[in-house]
Amino acid sequence: MNSKTDIRALTKEQLRDFFVNNGDKAFRGNQIYEWLWSKSVHNFEDMTNISKSTRQMLDDNFVINNIEVDAMQRSNDGTIKNAIKLHDGKIVESVLIPTESRTTACVSSQVGCSLDCKFCATARLKRMRNLNADEIYDQVVAIDKQSQLYHNRKLTNIVFMGMGEPLMNYNNVIKAIDKITSNEGLGMSAKRITVSTSGVPKLIKKMADDEVRFNLAVSLHSAIDEVRTKIMPFNHRFPLADLREALEYWYSKTKRKITYEYIVWQGINDTKKDVEALVKYCKYVPCKVNLIEYNPIDDGEFQQASRNALNNYISNLEMNDIVVNVRHSRGKDIDAACGQLANKS
Ligand code: SF4
Repeated sequence: MNSKTDIRALTKEQLRDFFVNNGDKAFRGNQIYEWLWSKSVHNFEDMTNISKSTRQMLDDNFVINNIEVDAMQRSNDGTIKNAIKLHDGKIVESVLIPTESRTTACVSSQVGCSLDCKFCATARLKRMRNLNADEIYDQVVAIDKQSQLYHNRKLTNIVFMGMGEPLMNYNNVIKAIDKITSNEGLGMSAKRITVSTSGVPKLIKKMADDEVRFNLAVSLHSAIDEVRTKIMPFNHRFPLADLREALEYWYSKTKRKITYEYIVWQGINDTKKDVEALVKYCKYVPCKVNLIEYNPIDDGEFQQASRNALNNYISNLEMNDIVVNVRHSRGKDIDAACGQLANKS
């Protein structure tokens, strides 16, 4: 591994100071910052309006840690799954999901995951480390390039639903989103970004206090504590009442609706009681529900519920004026669908 400092860990001010301290103008820092972020170069050589001696000086002091698309799989439905190699050789996965109206990047925030949701392939990898802000940003840049190359349009949306629990890597996720939305970065609208969490109450409140402008989704999967704890064991530490309180706080501060992500599994959360609990939970904070089709990661206890069970959820939610969408998974043939990211490629 290279022992030089990763230049992208420096703020713009630090870069400006670096040049001033080395007898150059602060403005040079702005130029380099632009090359590093909005132009996303991965090589000092490519900074064409910078003198050769300055590029050499940068090369002597810094490195640009970058990611590489190590393997790419394309699904019949246009979904692209990438195995992304980080600078230390670790692999995460990012997915490009095209639909008629949008192209969405599903990005990872951790190598493995700190949590242990029983239905999730990533949980089996355990958390190895958090991704740096630049590693998250670079996934978006790589997928935006693929979107333009294979679908002739720029990336429109980003969801933090790849590997990892984004709120357990709070600072880097926020830093990455700042860069993605800044005009000095990709200039994307925060409204097109969704952070999906399993629900860490104090960090949901922190996001509200930090006045973030992106959307919040919560992987709920059950509104009954005993059931949720069985499938998402950390619910024991952060029970539904605490989650509810944090979401009420979020809404009071941001006035933005929550999206609940919800999978219905056979024999786990497919009864009338489960449906009623969800309907009740949905009344606490303005929200909508995405019912997500499940892709079994093996032939174990988690299997997609019957159409009938799903219809029960849909009709009850609708009867109670709760917006519900059914999300069919994409990229199933390449294990790129929700819950399937586990570095199998
Ligand atoms: S569902 Fe999300 S939070 Fe849960 S283990 Fe998988 S990656 Fe982690």
